[in-house]
Amino acid sequence: MMEVAKENMRQPAHLLIFPAPLQGHINAMLPLADALSFAGSLRVTFLNTDHNHRLLSFFSPSQYSRFSLRPNLRFLSIPDGLSDDKPRSAYQLTELFHSLRTHSVDSFRALLLAGGNKDRDGWPPVTCIIVDGLMPYFMDEAQALGIPVLAFRTISASSLWVYLQIPQMIEAGELPFPADADLDEHIKSVPAMEGFLRRRDLPSMCRKATKADDKELQLFTNFAASSTRSKGLIFNTSDSLEAPILSQIDSIFPTTYAVGPLHALVESITSSSVSASLLAEDRSALNWLDAQPYRSVVYVSFGSLARLTHEEFLEFWHGFVNSGHRFLWVVRPDLVAEGTAAVEMAGLEERVRLVAWAPQEAVLRHRAVGCFITHSGWNSTLESAAAGVPMVCWPWAWDQLVNSRLVGEVWKVGLDMKDVCKREMVESMVRAAMEGEKAEELRRKATDLAVEIRRSVGEGGDARLDFERLLRDILSLSLCASIA
Ligand code: UDP
Repeated sequence: MMEVAKENMRQPAHLLIFPAPLQGHINAMLPLADALSFAGSLRVTFLNTDHNHRLLSFFSPSQYSRFSLRPNLRFLSIPDGLSDDKPRSAYQLTELFHSLRTHSVDSFRALLLAGGNKDRDGWPPVTCIIVDGLMPYFMDEAQALGIPVLAFRTISASSLWVYLQIPQMIEAGELPFPADADLDEHIKSVPAMEGFLRRRDLPSMCRKATKADDKELQLFTNFAASSTRSKGLIFNTSDSLEAPILSQIDSIFPTTYAVGPLHALVESITSSSVSASLLAEDRSALNWLDAQPYRSVVYVSFGSLARLTHEEFLEFWHGFVNSGHRFLWVVRPDLVAEGTAAVEMAGLEERVRLVAWAPQEAVLRHRAVGCFITHSGWNSTLESAAAGVPMVCWPWAWDQLVNSRLVGEVWKVGLDMKDVCKREMVESMVRAAMEGEKAEELRRKATDLAVEIRRSVGEGGDARLDFERLLRDILSLSLCASIA
């Protein structure tokens, strides 16, 4: 072991970063690869599945060529075990993750045993790994081979904290609760959230569970707890966003790093932004925005996975039209569960511009955008917060129900229309976020939060200091890697 450690001291540190093969996870972890490799003191391999690698190379070629100019950053890929024509959307996630666990672990191990050298290009062996906390089996595999692993959770610290507290909520008798229970009742057994967390804000599997040993509850609790087996946990958040929760979580893990929002951190460090899309970005959305008045447009996106029923889509559409405002609406080809008729009809309305996939960060920064209707995925929430754009939240599933509560009740930079999808509600939320005193108040708070985020990721800020500590720790952990 000593010999290997000495050997590693002569080898450059080589970090491998492996996100779960989903758009939101890549968007969170690629900026970290960018920022860490920019520092220059280590080599970074970003590992994708073959399927996503092909899509990213096709739809984000300029991103790939920008990175190809940096000799210490490269992309590799391994199979996810599914055939190419298999869809990998929200409804196939169980199958995708089952396939990763049963098929990809062997390829992952083989890659590490080959010194992280798939193509014999002379890179040194992998000395440290950052793996998505959603795939603990890769973490266990790497640690068994003697490579130190840090876990990365792409959800908010608050959501992870709620998952970690599921056993306590069960013990306190607060979970499960009957289907007809008052959803506005506060949850008292989750420290630091007593003041704002209601039954209504719990992740979707908590609301669905009917017994304490519910399988999905256990699955999410186990995933959350599995990251404690890593050398440390990285979050895409910072004290400016979730300080009280981070200090609770800190005591459970060997160490934690709050380095987010990473898209803002990377911009502060490298003066450029990262974008990597699995779908073709429609940049004409920006030209359309250029022609719209200042803060006149409502940007609408439900992320990369959420699906709307036909009825929900129509309720949104009527609410939008009745509000009299202009909309830029991301309607992915698979957004509406049953067919395209409603989408075709929606596209005929002059004030509602539909696109299949937008350059979201650029859209949120555009002067024409007045507010963001979002499903409250964590990346979208961070991108809106960093751009100072007020949100109207319609959380679709999982952790999004916690995030929207942060937006509405803790940061007070948006409105939470959780659980209601009626055209009157949509219209009144849009009006409140775009017109009059309430809109001004939300905009003021959102601007303050954006300033705070910029401070946090800038030189000497808490997220930047955590990032620098993370880099130092990766270098010193690399000295302990003992893979043969
Ligand atoms: N996104 C995008 N264009 C779109 C819609 C979404 O680039 O038209 C990006 C968005 O910027 C974010 C990611 O897709 O980084 C979605 O991640 P999020 O965590 O918000 O939601 P998820 O898709 O994981 O539910």
